[in-house]
Amino acid sequence: MAEHAARHAEPGVASDAWTGLARPLERALGKRTANAFAAMGIHTVGDLVMHFPFRLGHRGQLMPIAAVSEGEDVTVIARVLTATLRPMNTRRGFILTVRITDGVRDLALTFFAKNQRPLQYHERRLTPGTVATFSGTISTYRGEFQLTHPDYEVVDDEPDVAKIEAPIPIYHANAKLPSWQIARAIATVLPQLSEDDFPDPLPEEYRRAQHLPGKYHAVLALHHPTDDAQWKRAVQRMKHEEAFVLQTALASRRAQAKENTAPAFPCRRGGILDAFDARLPFKLTAGQRHVGDEIAAELAGAIPMRRLLQGDVGSGKTVVALRAMLQVVDAGGQAAFLVPTEVLAWQHYQTIRTLLGPLARGGELGSSEVATRVEILTGSMGAQARRQALAHIASGEAGVVIGTHALLSDNVQIPFPGLTVIDEQHRFGVDQRTVLASGVHELVMTATPIPRTIAMSVFGDLDVSTLRELPSGRAHVSTTVVPVSKRAWMDRVWERVAEEVRADGRVFVVCPRIDKDSADETEGSSDVVPAEGAPEMPIASVAETVEFLRRTLPQIAVGQMHGRLTGEEKASAMERFINGETPILVSTTVIEVGVDVPDATCMVILDADRFGLSQLHQLRGRIGRGSRPGVCLAVTGAADGTAARQRLEAFAETTDGFALAEKDVELRKEGDVLGASQSGRTSHLRFLSVTRDDAIIRVARQAARHAVEASPTLAAYPALAGAVAALDQDRAEYLERA
Ligand code: ADP
Ligand code: MG
Repeated sequence: MAEHAARHAEPGVASDAWTGLARPLERALGKRTANAFAAMGIHTVGDLVMHFPFRLGHRGQLMPIAAVSEGEDVTVIARVLTATLRPMNTRRGFILTVRITDGVRDLALTFFAKNQRPLQYHERRLTPGTVATFSGTISTYRGEFQLTHPDYEVVDDEPDVAKIEAPIPIYHANAKLPSWQIARAIATVLPQLSEDDFPDPLPEEYRRAQHLPGKYHAVLALHHPTDDAQWKRAVQRMKHEEAFVLQTALASRRAQAKENTAPAFPCRRGGILDAFDARLPFKLTAGQRHVGDEIAAELAGAIPMRRLLQGDVGSGKTVVALRAMLQVVDAGGQAAFLVPTEVLAWQHYQTIRTLLGPLARGGELGSSEVATRVEILTGSMGAQARRQALAHIASGEAGVVIGTHALLSDNVQIPFPGLTVIDEQHRFGVDQRTVLASGVHELVMTATPIPRTIAMSVFGDLDVSTLRELPSGRAHVSTTVVPVSKRAWMDRVWERVAEEVRADGRVFVVCPRIDKDSADETEGSSDVVPAEGAPEMPIASVAETVEFLRRTLPQIAVGQMHGRLTGEEKASAMERFINGETPILVSTTVIEVGVDVPDATCMVILDADRFGLSQLHQLRGRIGRGSRPGVCLAVTGAADGTAARQRLEAFAETTDGFALAEKDVELRKEGDVLGASQSGRTSHLRFLSVTRDDAIIRVARQAARHAVEASPTLAAYPALAGAVAALDQDRAEYLERA
């Protein structure tokens, strides 16, 4: 409680813990009510008045029943059609059945009691024609929705004429605290507060320019609007506030980062970068060249680079990163390449060593003078290999170090750190980033195209570069959704797999699970999807699918890959797949990110409905990376027309990651967009939608940057400084819990 009190004691407010927003609810409303609110996480007057209605109801205007579903806590405004009181058939006691309607759909209410008395009370109040607000939890009885013992408040009873005109705020409520009780509690505490209790984080000039009400007036209007328009203005204002505070926090962080210095790595002619460019087997795309120049210029300066490189799967980010690392090596620095999985670490290690050829053999006899060493460091490495790698890193010989989280461990000493590259950032928690990034340049890469506004909100402290084109000569991947119930189609799937193998292709078969008793393997998943509309069937597992394929295609060797294998087992499974010993690889989503097998031409995704759109896109990005066209077969038991099926149809329709990202935003609920690991940053956004409030975010971002420029410590904006501090505090708490 003390913590809560402290949080609301913003600067400029008398911070006596028992007054204003910090006042414990128990003092304001009594113990019983306070306890009920405590269950909702509401402890202080401040918490309570910041519990805003999520919508408005209107007297004389009914609220739709149509949208309710079982188990849901609902509040509807409806008219009573009939009320019937009768003895129960099979038990002693009485039942009152009330039918209510919103004009389109009906809903049954039931009240039970031992004797008639209490039921007669309800019957008298709920006469036909009465309009009331009802809330309760929806249950089903004989296939029909109903509310049992709902709380209700008769709307027409309201004596105050002005209030009859006013909209009714509807609060998120629970069984113990129906919406109107919350409204009453707020009506009790609000008059005891004044404008001084609500320091406004929005600078006055911003408010004036945007025609926004002050904080206090917005809070009043949110709870007790005189009309819809006033409420909407207040909502707009809160959106601006959230956007502005967040953007200020990001701008401050960015400004602070730029105040640090990082070592400068000017380009050097005739070094390893030039030697590498000379032996590159392909021509850089225009995008790679352009982004490469941007990065090169930043590395040459002493202001630490903070850059997000987003580019669709297969757009060639690795080469861009490698060239940046080589520029650092040329100037005597070391570069760390951080990746989310062991599989990917080994893959990058091999790729980079291959691309570098003799340039990766620094220190060996007869090697080129400009050559460097490439080291790998992962958690599952043997003690001796680890010791050697650490030694080469600590001596500065290793210019390029690739690794998983193991790189973050204390005993890794990088004496000349210059650049950190983080690959597939969406797979790390947002905040792991900050661990590495002090005093070095930072390049963050992601293949999950991020809609612009989200990029601005989540990565607002980074500069964004985008690779839009894929290297030419990249083959096309076509996708087909295959209903698992169609036997002939399924037979054709496995025939097709055999054909691909005969043509010397490689085939991934992706399953959600490792074996039939395990849960979906989420190690590799960037977004776990509620399987709405998904069939109730056994979920495909790696173990069972391997067995199945050995029976069905006995002439083809099948390998497997999943999160329970050791690092070495994974690496060797990958190697056998690449060299064709086991041209079919049955795998969980551990192959989701980054893995590059040019001969992979076909992917079968079993129970594809269990994966999110961006994850499917990542998976599909593993094939068609060579010159031969790829085919992706998304097998599903989801019925036509379900949300799960819709998502798969969208997936089959386009291979454009940006289009899919937009579609994803459309199909998924707001909070899911960033994935669970990234939602921490947005948990404090109650009004602002990072996907829809593009215009507000833009305006706020620009103004916030000005504010930080004008007053780097925010001393000129005490209320804003307080809000930013509270935000950082929330973030810190979130991190501690995570
Ligand atoms: P991602 O952006 O998904 O990480 P990669 O960096 O793994 O993509 O690149 C995918 C493949 O494309 C690799 O095999 C890489 O060698 C190849 N590649 C990269 N750039 C080019 C280019 N300019 N022309 C042809 N192939 C390229
Ligand atoms: Mg990659």
